[in-house]
Amino acid sequence: TQRDPDQSEFLEAVANFLPALVPVLKQHPEYIQANILERVIEPERVIQFRVPWLDDQNQVRVNRGFRVQFNSAIGPYKGGLRFHPSVNLAIIKFLGFEQTFKNSLTGLPIGGGKGGSDFDPKDKSDGEIMRFCQSFMTELQKYIGPDLDVPAGDIGVGAREIGYLFGQYKRLNGFQNGTLTGKGLAYGGSLMRPEATGFGLLYYTAALLKSQQQSLAGKRIKLSGAGNVALYALEKATKLGAKVLTASDSKGYIYDPAGIDFQLLQQLKFSEHQRISAYAQRVSTAQYVSGSVWQAAIKSDLALPCATQNEIDGAGAQQLVADGVKTVVEGANMPSTPEALKVYHQAGILFGPAKAANAGGVAVSALEMSQNSQRLAWPATKVDHQLQTIMQTIFNQVIHAVETYDLGRDYAAGANIAAFTKVADAMLAQGIV
Ligand code: NDP
Repeated sequence: TQRDPDQSEFLEAVANFLPALVPVLKQHPEYIQANILERVIEPERVIQFRVPWLDDQNQVRVNRGFRVQFNSAIGPYKGGLRFHPSVNLAIIKFLGFEQTFKNSLTGLPIGGGKGGSDFDPKDKSDGEIMRFCQSFMTELQKYIGPDLDVPAGDIGVGAREIGYLFGQYKRLNGFQNGTLTGKGLAYGGSLMRPEATGFGLLYYTAALLKSQQQSLAGKRIKLSGAGNVALYALEKATKLGAKVLTASDSKGYIYDPAGIDFQLLQQLKFSEHQRISAYAQRVSTAQYVSGSVWQAAIKSDLALPCATQNEIDGAGAQQLVADGVKTVVEGANMPSTPEALKVYHQAGILFGPAKAANAGGVAVSALEMSQNSQRLAWPATKVDHQLQTIMQTIFNQVIHAVETYDLGRDYAAGANIAAFTKVADAMLAQGIV
């Protein structure tokens, strides 16, 4: 707090994380002796840079670029790039911190990093986006590489942006497709990468419910977001027999008591590039409402927040309890505020924390790196099978930590402990790094 008083999102992520470690530290004083806690909350490197670019009116515009290389104890830095006007150092640091532990849970050899810019791709032409990406990469390329730091997409960075970023990287460094993940299939992308976070979220949810002798069949779901994570979560939830009642964007939400038609919503968003309100115009059972979906009273069993950080506050969490929600599993990063987490705890909600539940995307990104190294492309069935195994293994690690430290149903603490111990052990083994 003293060093970074204005970095509220980062401080929130650290404050959510550290208390869970108390039982581990009691049993393992070596972590305290080696001052692992202070080291683990300090990024190894923070890079901030100017991104000048020319808009369609030939005006020079300037944005701010970031890359936070948080922790490389268990592998090269790995984590997405976010292009959104809200991006600042506090947000990138919180995402990089979370990423370090999420990546640890995947069991794959990847460290943690995150980056992005306060550039808003929404109101830009294709040419503007390309010029921005080229300028961004001209600077970023100095700091990344297949064995050093491997960025991917996040909010505002999809296949198109990754293509432009990769094109510029290649002009400057030659064809090294292991430097970025989330690439198109024609140049080294992995099948199932677009689906991986949303599908993985549902595999995790299914494992969580199974541990309580429940399943997704017949569950009514309140879902937020209408981007990459949300739309594939919607698809997998529907295929596993649940009924998804809502989806949202930053302006409002759609409510369809008949269950949202995932194919139609994917077509509207991915192919026609429409707002979600277009869904309500096409489907007679659906309505579009302005405002936050978390303020709406909608009877449901399960919530899947898949939009952005801090989207569910204390009042939103109270509303979920009033709706009858018994399970919350996080698709977005840190979508629940500390007040919301308190409400879940008091109401005995079964909880899937983001760093465990949404790790499927980065896991398949790591599988994309493996395919690039092998110069092979795996079939979708193989990638999907590995994704399912990884999500189950993450869940098993959480349960193992919960049982070892007698944490009851505190699965968030279990995830933090399982993730931390691997990173901390690697740091201890590597000396004072
Ligand atoms: P997208 O950009 O594809 O979609 C984001 C969605 O969230 C859009 O529907 C957007 O609406 C909505 N949204 C964004 N900001 C806000 C806001 N302030 N209030 C309400 N709604 C908002 O991003 P992703 O689906 O990739 O990412 C969503 C979340 O999942 C993020 O937290 C991300 O970090 C996390 N995540 C993503 C992974 C991935 O593989 N993509 C992996 C792991 C985590 P609008 O169009 O109106 O802006």
